[in-house]
Amino acid sequence: MNRALPEAIAAIFQQVKARNPGEDEFHQAVKEVIESLGPVLVKYPEFAEHKIIERICEPERQIIFRVPWQDDRGEVQINRGFRVEFNSALGPYKGGLRFHPSVYLGIVKFLGFEQVFKNALTGMPIGGGKGGADFDPKGRSEGEIMRFCQSFMTELHRHIGEYTDVPAGDIGVGGREIGYLFGQYKRLTNRYESGVLTGKGIGWGGSLVRTEATGYGAVYFVREMLKVRRDSLEGKICVVSGSGNVAIYTMEKLAEMGAKVIACSDSQGVVIDEQGIDLDLVKQIKEVERRRIADYATRRQGARYLPGGNIWSVPCQVAMPSATQNEINGKDARTLVRNGCIAVAEGANMPTTPEGIRVFVDAGIAFGPGKAANAGGVATSALEMQQNASRDSWTFEFTERKLDSIMTGIHAATWETAEEFGAPGNYVVGANITGFIRVARAMLALGLI
Ligand code: NDP
Repeated sequence: MNRALPEAIAAIFQQVKARNPGEDEFHQAVKEVIESLGPVLVKYPEFAEHKIIERICEPERQIIFRVPWQDDRGEVQINRGFRVEFNSALGPYKGGLRFHPSVYLGIVKFLGFEQVFKNALTGMPIGGGKGGADFDPKGRSEGEIMRFCQSFMTELHRHIGEYTDVPAGDIGVGGREIGYLFGQYKRLTNRYESGVLTGKGIGWGGSLVRTEATGYGAVYFVREMLKVRRDSLEGKICVVSGSGNVAIYTMEKLAEMGAKVIACSDSQGVVIDEQGIDLDLVKQIKEVERRRIADYATRRQGARYLPGGNIWSVPCQVAMPSATQNEINGKDARTLVRNGCIAVAEGANMPTTPEGIRVFVDAGIAFGPGKAANAGGVATSALEMQQNASRDSWTFEFTERKLDSIMTGIHAATWETAEEFGAPGNYVVGANITGFIRVARAMLALGLI
């Protein structure tokens, strides 16, 4: 990775910071991509001439709206909704919705920006966007969640569509919320437009494997990273942060490939289970009962719970951050490396700080950045859109084979690009450059957009 930014790129970065004050996560995401691009501008001067980087850093459209709703006590609540339609050079905007109290414009823009390159990496015809609300679903009743989703969609529906913008889930938005959102869209538009949202349920337009896709895909990516090092997941000790959608299916596929997951977490603490995490129990607690991960230790003999603990201090060979942004800092990364970690793949978006990434890259361990490693989710969303467009539904095996081949392809492309641009084995450089070139070429071809 280029540590000192070339002058032209440093100037662009200053401009981005000045134009988007206070949006720290967005600045971080932009810097991480554009600091890889120096050699690209040398090879393709037309990208600089046509100001592609400057244009890519400016969202095509940003929508911010009021979401009023009534809680169970009849009290009026007001949240803020967002949809940032970042780039549609390759296809309709595509990216999830996040419901979490920390959501503000800077988070949505960082996620949307990342999404542009991730979606390009899949090789599928999808642009990038992201959205959400500063709504906290925790402790809310079924009825409150439904009314919030309905109010959110009452505004959002006029901005989306299967050829325009296709949202999906993210933190706090799973199958239940997608159901309520789709129901309200259908009611408002009088169209059964399956292709307008992905992550739908099986039986009403959803795709098999979508639920599992991000986690499974991240594990395929690790398998490929280890393969080039003539190694495999068999018998590896793993740690997976989070216990939501991505974490659960990461753990499932790791176990299927013969690895042993000994720790997972939620925002309140960490569970360690040296016998190997019992995934049925995690699913029961998190997917069915929607309770805290602390319950795991009370129901499973031999398991320990560390309230507020740091999962990265648990020694492991493979670490898969699958909770949220900036969850591995430089110190955590150094601890992981010191404890013998050989591979890290980001199931979450931007979970490693820039310093953490430097530690991993300098240590020469296999590091799969989120843009590449967690692209399986959006890739399978695009497969869901294909099935919706052809009014077809594919089998689990067929869809999973497609996911596997997409992830294997992303690994190969990022590996080869890193080598071509003089950074062999550096998937950060490989992913940023591969994604950028695909979007940049399309933008050039489409004129001044
Ligand atoms: P979920 O809401 O299903 O799960 C999130 C998990 O992360 C929960 O265990 C949650 O704990 C924990 N978490 C959330 N916020 C924090 C925080 N601030 N500090 C500590 N832990 C936290 O979300 P997903 O599994 O869908 O998403 C996880 C990550 O993966 C996100 O970064 C998302 O952007 C990314 N991602 C998701 C994709 C998908 O298909 N779902 C696709 C690609 C990336 P708690 O329950 O206590 O809040």
